[in-house]
Amino acid sequence: MLFRGINFLRLIMSFVEKRKKLVDKLIKRKILTKPEVIRAMLKVPRDKFVPKKAVSTAYMDSPLTIGLGQTISAPHMNAMMCEYLELKEGDKVLEIGTGSGYHAALCAELVAPEGSQNSGHVFTIERHQKLVEKAKESLKEAGYEHAVTVIHGDGTLGYPEKAPYDKILVTAASPENIPPPLKKQLKDGGILCIPAGSKSYGQNLYVITKKGEDLKSKRITGVRFVPLIGKHGFDS
Ligand code: SAM
Repeated sequence: MLFRGINFLRLIMSFVEKRKKLVDKLIKRKILTKPEVIRAMLKVPRDKFVPKKAVSTAYMDSPLTIGLGQTISAPHMNAMMCEYLELKEGDKVLEIGTGSGYHAALCAELVAPEGSQNSGHVFTIERHQKLVEKAKESLKEAGYEHAVTVIHGDGTLGYPEKAPYDKILVTAASPENIPPPLKKQLKDGGILCIPAGSKSYGQNLYVITKKGEDLKSKRITGVRFVPLIGKHGFDS
């Protein structure tokens, strides 16, 4: 019993150390710059969101398979999107593509930190019911269920029930024509971060800011995401 307890503590410590090493690397590469994003990346346990058989690789900077042909994105991509979204305490966030739930947990750590007097919330949509169930479990285990609502559905339609949103992130690649409901459901002054382009190769990450009816789009870098499948996305 005692040995088991000691081994469990060792495992947790090794995850904490690995997480710190990963964050240090991302800081060196200047991908992580904002103190609040660094704090969130140090706190959220990615090991709780990856499949059990891949847990030893949870802190490698690479995407991992989570089943049903889907992936949890590489940590540098999570970090980059959180930085560009300028997430702050109190923000109402919409994520399209819950996947494992890890990115939603990072957003929750930023918009609804422990002890916040002005808690924000994350609404996240996933098209695969099995991933919805698994993400809910992982979010509960990691302590974020109060700040994240997981919805099963087609995220290309957005989630008009809670619109408008301060920030929207899409973690699957959209066609060049960004889903109109997402643009509509973004608040005036809001930020949308979305990969777009072709179904498999030749995608770019865009940061779109809304000022009145005007949408300004900035290309950040080339990326590779699984496709966004749905009414305003690609066909399955
Ligand atoms: N954010 C995720 C994480 O932290 O693990 C990674 C997301 S994975 C790269 C993309 C996800 O988008 C997949 O789980 C896929 O099923 C989902 N997806 C694709 N099209 C969708 C749609 N129209 N609505 C909701 N989810 C969608």
